[in-house]
Amino acid sequence: MINRPRLARPTTKQRIVLLASPLVVGLIVPSLTKALVQCFVGGIPLGAAVADVLQKQFASGHNLFLLSLFGLIPFVVLVVQLLDDTKNRTFRACVVICACGLVGILALVIPTHFMVWYPLYGPGRMGSTDAVAFVFIPIYSIVPLFMALGIGRLVTRFPWFQPYPKGHCQRCGYNLQGNVSGVCPECGTKASP
Ligand SMILES: [Zn+2]
Repeated sequence: MINRPRLARPTTKQRIVLLASPLVVGLIVPSLTKALVQCFVGGIPLGAAVADVLQKQFASGHNLFLLSLFGLIPFVVLVVQLLDDTKNRTFRACVVICACGLVGILALVIPTHFMVWYPLYGPGRMGSTDAVAFVFIPIYSIVPLFMALGIGRLVTRFPWFQPYPKGHCQRCGYNLQGNVSGVCPECGTKASP
């Protein structure tokens, strides 16, 4: 049997990475978008722009960190969705579903963050009301998130994403028919009942 370990369900370690990655992306991307606008629209060197964003995270009157936390809402929704997927689907399917969910959120988050920050560093000024967008962006982005999750779950119905058939080791795919030890001779995994 060909070794296809990715068809197994996620290991605990893989599951933790899958569940943590949306939160990491959710914390970094909005601030990174702001830094990139500062750099490419405002003409500030990238290093200085990143330093400025980092410095303002906890500065009073800026509250970028609070905005980031609020911006995490759709990413937390994605993690909650993945709790179930990572239990029931193969690692390969989970990666695709997680990636789809992230693309769905970011498709709305990146352009809208860009539009809010652009006037501040480009021509014109940022209106005081524009910051309100940061309250609505996380909530609105739940819509493309679920659309993308639907696509991801549809795509992962293909056999390439499905677990090994019954009677095969779910870790490596070895045919366990007639196996009495209950342990896969190929990879040492305990055979599932
Ligand atoms: Zn095995």
